[in-house]
Amino acid sequence: MEKRELLYEGKAKRVFLTDDPNIVIQEFKDDATAFNGEKKGTIIGKGVVNNKISCKLFEMLETKGIPTHLIKFIDDRNMLIKKVEIVKLEVIIRNIAAGSFSKRYGVEEGTVFDSPTFEFSYKEDALGDPLINKYHALAMKIATKEELKTIKKYAFKINEILKDYFIERNVILVDFKLEFGRTNTGEIVLADEISPDTCRFWDKDTKEKLDKDRFRKNLGNIEEAYTEMLKRLS
Ligand code: UDP
Repeated sequence: MEKRELLYEGKAKRVFLTDDPNIVIQEFKDDATAFNGEKKGTIIGKGVVNNKISCKLFEMLETKGIPTHLIKFIDDRNMLIKKVEIVKLEVIIRNIAAGSFSKRYGVEEGTVFDSPTFEFSYKEDALGDPLINKYHALAMKIATKEELKTIKKYAFKINEILKDYFIERNVILVDFKLEFGRTNTGEIVLADEISPDTCRFWDKDTKEKLDKDRFRKNLGNIEEAYTEMLKRLS
């Protein structure tokens, strides 16, 4: 299927139309941003790694009963996906305290939770993706009660699947962000990406960071960390 007009360009990806109105192509760039776009940079080869990892994880999740937007892997930087309307929520699950959780609640990074946490942010760059709860989401008509229930059910199930999947590869899944979309038939499916840009991954033995925190915190060896994650999944 061929790329037609550019439909949307975001910070790390572009979406192109195709001849089929229900199918689009998601292209992964090497551009990186952090802190709501304040920090900008390039991580060479990131787009390829994130596309490959996302395709692999979406395929694996589909086999375990999670519907996703993925149709198929096209090439290094492109995946063929169902055109969806993105639900304007960032869904975050955490197994271990880090990042904004540690900052917000004063909980030391690395504190392991007895059970995972679940939170929503309102996906709106101009507002800096503020934290909201289910009642805010309903009041703002971001999603229906039914949709929120489905999203929550999928998010916890995805966490259980991914935790096991990564630990077998000597990687701890610290936390991650998911996005969901509505297909043309109104079905809720997992969308966007799952990659070192959207998850925190720590090496099980050394606790070395293998994700975008290397870019956020200027830790060096950024490209190497992304490549290492791809290697562990291959
Ligand atoms: N995350 C993301 N996009 C965002 C915000 C967070 O992919 O706009 C991911 C982030 O990589 C981490 C998890 O969600 O794996 C939790 O991030 P957190 O809320 O701690 O925010 P951060 O510290 O990244 O600002």
